[in-house]
Amino acid sequence: MQTIKLLATLQTIDLKLDSDRRQFAENKQAMQPSPQLQEKAKQVKLAEARLAHWRKERRERDEKAAELSNKITTLEKQLYGGRIKDVREQVAMQQNVESLKRHLAMLEESALEALLEQEEAENVLAKEKQTFVSMKQAWLEKKATLEKEQEALVEHARGLKSKREQVVATLPAADVKRYEAMRKKLGGLAVAKLNARSCGGCGASLPTAVVQKVHEGQTVKCPICGRLLYD
Ligand SMILES: [Zn+2]
Repeated sequence: MQTIKLLATLQTIDLKLDSDRRQFAENKQAMQPSPQLQEKAKQVKLAEARLAHWRKERRERDEKAAELSNKITTLEKQLYGGRIKDVREQVAMQQNVESLKRHLAMLEESALEALLEQEEAENVLAKEKQTFVSMKQAWLEKKATLEKEQEALVEHARGLKSKREQVVATLPAADVKRYEAMRKKLGGLAVAKLNARSCGGCGASLPTAVVQKVHEGQTVKCPICGRLLYD
């Protein structure tokens, strides 16, 4: 086969390999957890922290209220137990108990608020978790699909590489070297197809003499972009 035809075959294989590589890199990127998923994971963490905070608050406020309630019970026992004979002392104690009861009402109010906050935090966490789980599930499914695609791409590229080796083996090493250097310099396209009378690489209209040589299967370059031409 003419060198130019072989180089064109090599070019076709290389373009497919380039495309496989691009797709592989794109898939790899797409397999990463999305920013939305990462953001949702953060929101779950925040909701967990908020719930932990209100659980602690509620427990502490309940404990404080229970402590005070016990204290009041003890004082009332003393007060109504008949052991305190002094009237002034009784009145003072009575006032103290009344004051403590007002304080207790406030503590109970505050414990109830904490309980409501805790319930609200539980609801928020449950919702965030549900959204996160379904987002994560969708991501895992997408990732699994992409993983299969990656395997297929690797397999496909393996086949192309083996074909490439076969083509390279039939070409003079110097031609392959020149082709590879040109591909680097010319954006991946070293060999361009002739489109009627113009270069398939840069689109330039070609002189008749050049078109003629291409038709004859000679190795000839586009005078504008420098790519090798084939038809
Ligand atoms: Zn050209």
